[in-house]
Amino acid sequence: MSRFLFLAKTKSFEIKVEGADEKENTMIKYWLLTPFVTSIDKTKSEVQIECFQKNSRELQEKVRVLVNNIQNLNPRILRLIDYFEKELKQDEWFFWAVDEDITQEEKDNILTYLISIDSDNKQKEQAYLANIKLQKLRKEYNICFYGENTHVRIGEPDKLKRICRYCSRSMPEVSFKKDAHTISEALGNKSIKTNDECDNCNQLFGDSIEQDFLSLFNISRVFFGIKNKTGYPHKVNGDNYSFKKTDNGNISINYYMKEGEQALNPDHSPLNISLISHRAFPEQNIYKALCKYVFGVLDDVTLKSFERTRKWLIGMNSETSLPKLARFDHPDVKKHPTIMVFIRKDESTKDLPHVVAEVRIINISFVVILPFSNKDIHNFCDNDNYDRFWKFFDIFSSVPGWQISDCSKLEPMHPIVKLNIAKRENDES
Ligand SMILES: [Zn+2]
Repeated sequence: MSRFLFLAKTKSFEIKVEGADEKENTMIKYWLLTPFVTSIDKTKSEVQIECFQKNSRELQEKVRVLVNNIQNLNPRILRLIDYFEKELKQDEWFFWAVDEDITQEEKDNILTYLISIDSDNKQKEQAYLANIKLQKLRKEYNICFYGENTHVRIGEPDKLKRICRYCSRSMPEVSFKKDAHTISEALGNKSIKTNDECDNCNQLFGDSIEQDFLSLFNISRVFFGIKNKTGYPHKVNGDNYSFKKTDNGNISINYYMKEGEQALNPDHSPLNISLISHRAFPEQNIYKALCKYVFGVLDDVTLKSFERTRKWLIGMNSETSLPKLARFDHPDVKKHPTIMVFIRKDESTKDLPHVVAEVRIINISFVVILPFSNKDIHNFCDNDNYDRFWKFFDIFSSVPGWQISDCSKLEPMHPIVKLNIAKRENDES
């Protein structure tokens, strides 16, 4: 068997290919090398292969010819055509290697280099600095990433052996018939699923905290076109508005004034309006839903430290104090959510939180400390401890614009989206 690894800014990808026997293995491996040969010196019978290459039309053509020639030996290699023709950008730089063990640190360095090849000086510097910050974090934390291309099912595959990670029950007391999306499907999640979330818990979260969390994104789901189970939502009604996207992409908003509210002057620019959601819920549920998502990707050993968190998630415990929540409005929109989890290494300094995660949903990035670990020696609800943590995670905190707020409140509130509508120059309508 041979492992081909491709690293690129847009998408990294690994393919394992195997022939029927050792001879066929070697043959497939050498065939697969051919599109990447950069020059041949016939006099010395030497070939040159560069590990950094550009996704040119010429390369795509060579890959297509090769795949068509040998796909009957191993149909899996058809996937290469999609990678070069659809997933990578035209002329994007990529790195590739065969049967090499490349450490995470080396991968980070290669990706930093790839980002810097095509970018201006400012981006180069940012990529370089982000990499240094990531290396510092890697010394203290193991980092796992889940996103569109992860396609993982977390937890025990065998239904009979499953114990629900939330309620600790197993079959026949509970069932595991439904596909449990770790992050709500309506937020664009297709790939991240948790095996050991029982149907009861799935229903419980789906009707409560996940539904609450979803209502924060009612407008952005329509505006950015985030696909859910049945397709693209194109309309949402709130407490004082209805928000619609037409087939040609135009947005129409109906705004209903409340009693005693002063009439809006449409000639005034910018026009500031507050769109209020129908659903009211405790602000704490935003933090809880994020923790439910993070809890859903943790390994068995780490989960053992979060018994108090588990009870809080399913409503067995009530908590009145949580660490602060950091959120950032991102300029780039993610059609599929991602979770980056930082799990403190056993040998690391205990001053830092045990588990931290960045959850990215559509246009917002959240950073949470998973609270109540029995491996935390400090209380991160305390401002000084929180500040120390936030400073250490400078991969986030060095970027200006984060809003950090207390999200512990238990009184119900209606989420509000503030719109600031500016008139375009020369716009008569
Ligand atoms: Zn359960």
